[in-house]
Amino acid sequence: MNEAPQETLANLLTEDRTFPPPPEFTRSANVSAEAYEKADADRLAFWDEQARRLDWSKDWDQTLDWSNPPFAKWFVGGELNVAANCLDRHVEAGLGDRVAIHFEGEPGDTRAVTYAELLDEVKRAANTLTDLGVEAGDRVVIYMPMIPEAAVAMLACARIGAPHSVVFGGFSVEALSSRIDDAGAKLVICADGGFRKGKANALKPTVDEAVDRCPSVEKVLVVRRTEQDVDWNDRDLWWHETVANASNDHEAQAFDAEHPLFILYTSGTTGKPKGILHTSGGYLTQASYTHRSVFDLKPENDVYWCTADIGWVTGHSYIVYGPMANAATQVMYEGTPDTPHTGRMWEIVQKYGVTIMYTAPTAIRTFMKWGDDVPARYDLSSLRVLGSVGEPINPEAWMWYREHIGGSRCPIVDTWWQTETGAIMVSPLPGVTATKPGSAQRSLPGITVDVVDDEASSVPNGGGGFLTIRDPWPSMLRTIWGDDQRFLDTYWSRFSNMYFAGDGAKRDADGDIWLLGRVDDVMLVSGHNISTTEVESALVGHDTVAEAAVVGAADPLTGQGIVAFVILRGGVESSPEHLADLRNHVAKTLGPIAKPRQVMVVSELPKTRSGKIMRRLLRDIAEDRQLGDVTTLQDSSVMARIKDGLQAAPED
Ligand code: ATP
Ligand code: MG
Repeated sequence: MNEAPQETLANLLTEDRTFPPPPEFTRSANVSAEAYEKADADRLAFWDEQARRLDWSKDWDQTLDWSNPPFAKWFVGGELNVAANCLDRHVEAGLGDRVAIHFEGEPGDTRAVTYAELLDEVKRAANTLTDLGVEAGDRVVIYMPMIPEAAVAMLACARIGAPHSVVFGGFSVEALSSRIDDAGAKLVICADGGFRKGKANALKPTVDEAVDRCPSVEKVLVVRRTEQDVDWNDRDLWWHETVANASNDHEAQAFDAEHPLFILYTSGTTGKPKGILHTSGGYLTQASYTHRSVFDLKPENDVYWCTADIGWVTGHSYIVYGPMANAATQVMYEGTPDTPHTGRMWEIVQKYGVTIMYTAPTAIRTFMKWGDDVPARYDLSSLRVLGSVGEPINPEAWMWYREHIGGSRCPIVDTWWQTETGAIMVSPLPGVTATKPGSAQRSLPGITVDVVDDEASSVPNGGGGFLTIRDPWPSMLRTIWGDDQRFLDTYWSRFSNMYFAGDGAKRDADGDIWLLGRVDDVMLVSGHNISTTEVESALVGHDTVAEAAVVGAADPLTGQGIVAFVILRGGVESSPEHLADLRNHVAKTLGPIAKPRQVMVVSELPKTRSGKIMRRLLRDIAEDRQLGDVTTLQDSSVMARIKDGLQAAPED
């Protein structure tokens, strides 16, 4: 039994810093260490208890039906209305005057929307959708900027049982029309445009062109935001002429716990996006539980701010459904972080007294690049919890976040999850966990994440392997929309009886989990499987580097050679000696096996709309190949600029 395990993924980086939660924080935390014990003792009873925090019109008969894996049913027989859980019950409880959304438009216009006002608007929108012939089960595509109407549209769909599919406002005609088509949407809700980077950014022309290609669409409902000129078609209706005049009398009907709530396409970092299907009762249970426990939300006092876009799963679970089910007050910001200046985010934190902030490593690394002096100009003392999501966070970025944003006093929760998982799965609990820079640490109570080797055996502490989920969880995806076979092939065929997440991970000496990037990106160097994350973190650990992406490129000697693309911190000039220094720095930090064959300085990296680095395109460059699919890139011209820049750069 005790044979030396075959190495699945090398463990090279060690990190000794730990930060226990402040004792006052622990004393008043929503969740204590006891939650793990309770969930371990009886996982389903634990989830029953969390589900009871919601209002159900009909109780469930069975917590979990797993008789036909991997097709799970949670809270079987139960009925609820998701929107009523996010709105009506709070207003009925006397919280109608609480601000739900502090909206900050990019040009500086603001609106405070209370729970009573939000409910009123959602009821009108629900009546409008019904008038337009949208019925329970019909799909609605939402293509909007970050304005309160985006949340209203989602909640109105939820209220009438029409699954929504939000498409990031800014995707191309192709990306939008293929998603409308795949979902077979009957209605599209959009806006004339939104404000981004100081300009009115039109959305309606993209919708017009996309809908021309999609025969399923009957109507297009248009919110007026920028007031720019738009072409008008017979199928178009203005929101302010329909929703505003609709009745605000609407009784929410309860739906089955397994009624579809939304379809959301994954970011497309690794390939063709998948239409992930989520349902109602289990999803809302886990979104609301995790929002309350991971961020320690105290809805009476906290001002919460998640900087994600509504077109990404984080915007679904941690702007709309989780926070609103918990009656949170939150900030919603329309624009980009550097408009009109690089201190905009911190100005907003100061202005609204934000207490909980949830953002992505890509944003944190950008703030680092802009310099410590920017946040230092603002009063950030209201902050008490910081969150990170989207990619592994490099230890140096984590430390920067802690010191320069969190004033060295706020617990940081690094939350691992996916569109597919629906809600957070691996994360510290801020009042319980002694945090470690760069580690997501352990499964939340009621969740059984594991790290396994090729043979599906748990790796010992110190070992690396594949991240898997052993037991079904309430907010798990139910299938890929219209493609059960792809659902089985992608997630359930790599290992039997386990969900395969597609991410590499390791367990440290204490058993804590560290995410190591995507399995597809792992580099095979002289027989060792080396993670992109560890090499990138070593590079970001050098004081001249702001951001790094590494890939394995075919190499005649070693199988693959590590090629690194780095963005330097402001004011740093590169030279052949500097590049050699970076390569040696990695070798010194991680060992000679991880020494990059080549380091290239770039000014940008290819990223998806949700800010994730697309390594597969860098691999195409490193191996001098034709570029693969670029439709989910944030900026499709970036690859040409990277290539041009490399031709002009000094040789390593
Ligand atoms: P596609 O599956 O189409 O390639 P995607 O995986 O980028 O798209 P998302 O569901 O938005 O789409 O992203 C989930 C992925 O993001 C995870 O599988 C993981 O790779 C990464 N991720 C998210 N949060 C973390 C985190 N805290 N630490 C490490 N990685 C994370
Ligand atoms: Mg994915």
